Amino acid sequence: MDIPLLDLKAQYEAIKEEIIAATLEVYQSQRFILGPKVEELERKIAAYSQVKYAIGVSSGTDALLISLMSAGIGPGDLVITSPYTFFSTAGSIARLGAIPIFVDIDHLTYNIDVDKLEKRISTLHAKQRPRLKAILPVHLFGQCANMDKITAIAKSLGILVIEDAAQAIGAEYRSFDGCLKRAGSMGNYGCFSFFPSKNLGSFGDGGMVTTNDEEAFQSLKIMRVHGAHPKYYHKMIGGNFRFDALQAAILLIKFKYLEQWTEKRRSNARLYRELFARKGIEEVELPFENEGRHIYNQFVIKIDQGRDELKGYLSNQGIGCEIYYPVPLHVQECFRYLGYHPEDCPVSIEAAAKTIALPIYPELRCEQIEYIVETIGSFYKR
Ligand SMILES: *Cc1c(COP(=O)(O)O)cnc(C)c1O
Repeated sequence: MDIPLLDLKAQYEAIKEEIIAATLEVYQSQRFILGPKVEELERKIAAYSQVKYAIGVSSGTDALLISLMSAGIGPGDLVITSPYTFFSTAGSIARLGAIPIFVDIDHLTYNIDVDKLEKRISTLHAKQRPRLKAILPVHLFGQCANMDKITAIAKSLGILVIEDAAQAIGAEYRSFDGCLKRAGSMGNYGCFSFFPSKNLGSFGDGGMVTTNDEEAFQSLKIMRVHGAHPKYYHKMIGGNFRFDALQAAILLIKFKYLEQWTEKRRSNARLYRELFARKGIEEVELPFENEGRHIYNQFVIKIDQGRDELKGYLSNQGIGCEIYYPVPLHVQECFRYLGYHPEDCPVSIEAAAKTIALPIYPELRCEQIEYIVETIGSFYKR
């Protein structure tokens, strides 16, 4: 049985007619950049993410970049983030001449470790302190970071929080007061990606920034069009961060199914748990689920020994799997100038060596999940 890591064709088949009709509308209108479709999607994503404002941008990476720009982060500023994430989380910081400070992750959630975060801040020199401008937590694999702690630390220091929610649309965080808060609503900025492999994926690149701050919203809107306001009068240096109407039209269709897809991902995760438990496969550590809502952009298991052998075995049996991420950012070649050693973030190094993502997409059928668990069982019985 061949099971890809992600099957976008199955999803497309189910909603093809609607998508085609929506794109034809855009062709007829001949309005391709920003415009009413983008605004409609912005309103829907803002409401869905429980924030006042959302603005469509060219990618998740640009969502991060424009947020940092709007926050006034520039050369020599310090931004704390996780080393265990997709490259652009830290890449966007560095592109602005700011300095990413990597704080290791928690071994259960793979999100930034808030105790280490506090410790790292306490070791900053007096001269560095005023340069610390923001914390950029990542809600990795679709589960929120410890936002109560992160926002409290940021508040006490008077710095910003920029959420990398690229993998976490609709994820919920259980706050200390019992409230469920959506990803992208807890920091000053929330950054989303519509890259095809995300839970809400477009037919190309796209992203969105959410905020509750009116001033931030205004500056994001101006930054998105080269800093011009009005047109041809440039208040600041922005960029072309505009979002396509065609992508917005497609996402408006897909958005109607997002909740149902998310619940399907969650029930797939439950089935994995049941089957792994029933089979008693002790070598596999299942993903830790906090209170709140994990939206399972990825279902990532951990194997103490022989991860690469398992990956090879699964691939040979036709099962798609992937390593997110094989090289933590603090040891990437391009960040060598920052002077990190592997042992500075040991949990990230360990996660990179031991984890593997299994298929979790909504269209996955029960038999397929059974086959995946069977196959992993047979790997350990050889
Ligand atoms: C996908 C992703 C991004 C970047 O989004 P793009 O739309 O691909 O630019 C940033 N951060 C994380 C954690 C991601 O998963």
